[in-house]
Amino acid sequence: MDTRLYINGEWKTAEKGTFPVINPANGEKIGTAADGGKKETKEAVEAAEDAFKSWSALTAQERAGYLKEMYRLMMEKKDELGELITEEMGKPLQEAKGEVQYAASFLEWFAEEGKRVYGKTVPASSAEKRMMVIQQPVGVVGAITPWNFPQAMITRKVAPALASGCTVVLKPGEDTPFSAVKFAEICEEAGLPKGVFNLVSGQEASEIGGELMENEAVRKITFTGSTEVGRLLMKQGSEQIKKLSLELGGHAPVIVLDDADVDKAVQGSIASKFRNAGQTCVCGNRIYVQEGIYDEFIEKFKTEAEQLNVGDGFEDSVDIGPLINQGGYEKVDRHVKDALDKGAELVCGGEGFEENGAYFYKPTVLKNITHEMVIMEEETFGPVAPVQKISSDEEGVRLANSSPYGLASYFFTENLSRGMKVAEGLEYGIVGWNDGVPSAPQAPFGGWKQSGIGREGGSEGIEPFLETKYISMGV
Ligand code: ADP
Repeated sequence: MDTRLYINGEWKTAEKGTFPVINPANGEKIGTAADGGKKETKEAVEAAEDAFKSWSALTAQERAGYLKEMYRLMMEKKDELGELITEEMGKPLQEAKGEVQYAASFLEWFAEEGKRVYGKTVPASSAEKRMMVIQQPVGVVGAITPWNFPQAMITRKVAPALASGCTVVLKPGEDTPFSAVKFAEICEEAGLPKGVFNLVSGQEASEIGGELMENEAVRKITFTGSTEVGRLLMKQGSEQIKKLSLELGGHAPVIVLDDADVDKAVQGSIASKFRNAGQTCVCGNRIYVQEGIYDEFIEKFKTEAEQLNVGDGFEDSVDIGPLINQGGYEKVDRHVKDALDKGAELVCGGEGFEENGAYFYKPTVLKNITHEMVIMEEETFGPVAPVQKISSDEEGVRLANSSPYGLASYFFTENLSRGMKVAEGLEYGIVGWNDGVPSAPQAPFGGWKQSGIGREGGSEGIEPFLETKYISMGV
């Protein structure tokens, strides 16, 4: 592939040329993507600003028509788009196709939600007045997405933006620009008017991001990525009081109480922990198991973890693909070594390997974990499960909450009243109760504390793209 930028309905080369895109499973170059910068971003914003006038004037039904066609096209291309995800970022093919389906579901969901952007009337305190409240699209949106869900993070942002009447400039993760190019092709094929969706790929994130933040025509930034970059965007946004939605890092706890169905807890924890090789912000990162079932849980968890195959995501038998790059690998290795140095016991795994510039890590389980270990404080983003023993529900909730993050959390219990108290006690935006994979298009996704601002998905997911206007009318 040798791809271009998509600006104002045209495919354009970038002034700075191109940059290589690598398959993380074998280190081979898949192709090159256009290396857009400040100039092209500015051009894309101008196109989006221009298109906003007519796009926002369409009816919600008309916009829904485009989104439904995009949904149809994405489902039609599910296999091709899935293969591209595996090639660009390494997740196993079945998981990649699942991501495409998940990505498409946001197009369908928000096509409908766009029709439900209701206003209201408010009783006035004077007989000579009428008061009403309406919702209008915020304007041009800058969307910045990461590499770990190359397709779904785009649609989760772009679908509600388009449905509400906003126009978009997208900067995708530099490791995965091709999925974004395919998305732009779908926009074109669906007949989306020029300038409504624009794509600026590039390897200088701060240059493209900088223009999106500085350009006054961009009214809203929606970002998924690290807390560190989210913090920077907040600082930059303070100048113009830029509207911000931030989906940032997580450090998800998993609590297994002593009345849990252990098999269910093991299955749910395996699904949460090892999905995408542990490279999602909602992956279980620290497992707290109550003492009565600690040994049984670890034994069963180990048996399941050891059955997961590591390798190239295109191979049928593979459950865990490569880590995204050397930096990702080194972080995982550092976390495991630090835990072992501080007294953790290795249950299985504990090592990785490099092959032709690709980095793999075996599914790893550690026990005798304490909070002195880095792995209990930092997001690992790898297939490592540290297990700590707890004695009570309260201790589990206290340890779970002892983190600056608050995105996803999980717990397992069959007891309704215990479970309700735990669910209410967790300072997290998402709680999976006997459920390791809670994400869904119709549910709000987002974090408390340093995990972010705002929600994506659900009926909440369209709100960040709307401004409220109160109209007071004298009669
Ligand atoms: P990750 O660890 O997922 O790569 P990052 O926060 O580094 O998280 O990246 C998420 C997205 O943010 C990517 O598209 C990346 O290019 C972009 N990004 C990184 N640095 C900046 C920046 N200074 N300004 C704007 N976007 C940035």
